[in-house]
Amino acid sequence: MSQKQLPGPLVDTFGRTARDLRISVTDRCNFRCVYCMPEEGIQFLPRDEILSYEEIARLARLFVEDLGIESIRLTGGEPTVRRDLPTLVSMLAALRTPAGAPVEISLTTNGSSLARHAGLLRDAGLTRVNVSLDSLRADRFLAITRRDALADVLAGIDAAVVAGLDPVKVNVVAVRHKNEDEIVDFAVFGRERGVQIRFIEYMPLDADGTWTLEQVVSADEIVDTIGSIFPLEEVAHGAEPATRWRYSDGAGEIGVIPSVTKPFCGDCDRVRMTAEGQFLTCLFAVDDLDLRHPLRHGASDADIGDLIKDAVFGKWSGHRIGRVDFVRPTRSMSQIGG
Ligand code: SAM
Ligand code: SF4
Repeated sequence: MSQKQLPGPLVDTFGRTARDLRISVTDRCNFRCVYCMPEEGIQFLPRDEILSYEEIARLARLFVEDLGIESIRLTGGEPTVRRDLPTLVSMLAALRTPAGAPVEISLTTNGSSLARHAGLLRDAGLTRVNVSLDSLRADRFLAITRRDALADVLAGIDAAVVAGLDPVKVNVVAVRHKNEDEIVDFAVFGRERGVQIRFIEYMPLDADGTWTLEQVVSADEIVDTIGSIFPLEEVAHGAEPATRWRYSDGAGEIGVIPSVTKPFCGDCDRVRMTAEGQFLTCLFAVDDLDLRHPLRHGASDADIGDLIKDAVFGKWSGHRIGRVDFVRPTRSMSQIGG
């Protein structure tokens, strides 16, 4: 059960307080997942438009010391393709909240290089990791990611467990007619390897713009499918977007993220920063706030903090996927940072 918290500085008009910051460190990736990036032709950001580690660390310090952020997740694109990622992790791990508490630093990765980097990242201060994996079959993995790297990802998951990153979670985007028949296989995989599988509903953030509601495999369907083989009990829900279910036989738990069928916007405690320093109050935000310009033109921490507070104050109540007035963001998932 999550602890009741007092409101922090990043409060919006719906009474939500932002505590969790997602930082994208790059828009580049070594995979081309069909639900995220186009096969080719994507325009990457020029390097000088991407925030340096020093710039990211300055903003992160402001978020943690002055704006109430308590946890930071690094994402992308693929964060591990950026050089010396452990250096950034160690800079962020040194941050302390006003109460003197360390910040929880986590990572979302496709896992392809974790076999090499898991220990280094843990030593730098990373505590937890989410590895994305949508098929346990090599041919299908290749069709989804457009890369032949299943063995690397499986080795990466094992390396993360051995390195002591805890918890290791595996993110699975369930897509109708692509991998829905592997839902139980993933449950078995999670039970055997001691990792928590988190099923994510497919969202309209694919670069190709081919998402349809019919392709979404709902969280309810996933829970029913697994529960019919391995009985499940719901775990009390905190601020996190995942609804958690534990196996009745004690073999761990699964999470389902019902972003589309049961949006959790009312409990949202997240804000985001893209690799080029655009601040977003929602994954689906169509307006963003440029932090890079003030950062590179002498703005004080107080000035930047005020801009961020104003943006959060104006955060909308939630996205409207599936409704007629839903407006698709112009950026795709890899450009925002999922
Ligand atoms: N490259 C890293 C990875 O794949 O884990 C981090 C970035 S990726 C954009 C973050 C997460 O977003 C992954 O778990 C990925 O599966 C998920 N994702 C990407 N496109 C999505 C979509 N259209 N709907 C739902 N989840 C998506
Ligand atoms: Fe790359 Fe992650 Fe997007 Fe796949 S989901 S293309 S690994 S950024």
